[in-house]
Amino acid sequence: MEQLLEELLEASQPYTQNGKLANYIPELLKADPNALGIYVMRPDGKRSWAGDCTHKFTIQSVVKPILLLQALLDNGIDVVRSHVGVEATGKPFDAINAINTNEKALYSEHLNPMVNMGAILMCTLIHGDTYQEKFDRLLDLTRKLADNPDIVVDEAVYQSEKATGSKNRALAYLLKTYGMIQGDVEEVLDCYFRACSIQVTCKDLARIGAVLANRGRAPGSDERIFPAKFAQYVNAILLTCGMYDGSGDFAVRVGIPAKSGVGGGIMAVVPTRMGIGIFGPALDKNGNSIAGIRLLEEFSHRMYLSIF
Ligand code: GLU
Repeated sequence: MEQLLEELLEASQPYTQNGKLANYIPELLKADPNALGIYVMRPDGKRSWAGDCTHKFTIQSVVKPILLLQALLDNGIDVVRSHVGVEATGKPFDAINAINTNEKALYSEHLNPMVNMGAILMCTLIHGDTYQEKFDRLLDLTRKLADNPDIVVDEAVYQSEKATGSKNRALAYLLKTYGMIQGDVEEVLDCYFRACSIQVTCKDLARIGAVLANRGRAPGSDERIFPAKFAQYVNAILLTCGMYDGSGDFAVRVGIPAKSGVGGGIMAVVPTRMGIGIFGPALDKNGNSIAGIRLLEEFSHRMYLSIF
């Protein structure tokens, strides 16, 4: 397996040249655009990797499935679904999903937890008396899923996001006008910005993917972290909405549930077989790791990973 990963990594590396670092959060411009790494973890705990797997980067939108999991653990599927739907929007992640209605229920149906408006709403659904408490619970779950108690927030990226997050503010205030956010919008946003700034490695993402692949159980043990039905719910949404407005293209080329982030991370789930973590900060036009997708495409092809 190591040999295959090294071979595929080498073949995919040149594709980093075709992408660009995310520039709308200034701090993300400090990443090395040529970096590329892949880490694979199986349900029995066996692991393999190649390339840049120790580098820390911010989780960004890959936190969205974790926000969803925490909201599910705290409220169950019916309550979560009554607030945020499951349909792909076909629009960019930060789109103002304006539909021609003022009806809250209809508006909820047209969101999903993998776009910013849906993820910001997930923050409100997490239990906790304060937003600090809600965020601390999310961080604990992230550490547990990754089996890494040392995971922390990258303060510089957090400050950078907070200082430049006007679009996310617009999205959150729009939710407030529809009565979908109660209380202080800035506190909700603070939880969301912190969540996006959690620092991870490819290995952390592979472990989180492996728990989702293993239907909620920790790889290499019988410890249950969340119910199997939540894995089914999250993986289905990842498949249809996880790769921004490139989700359909990714489904035909790679064919597995996955979530990407503008920090260059991808967490992929091959149900019952493995979790995969990718780091490659040069992005394509949709905001996905350009060489990372290429690497996953080849890996899927060679290992028959497509669920189709
Ligand atoms: N913090 C980023 C934002 O909301 C996350 C974007 C992403 O990774 O898609 O703008």
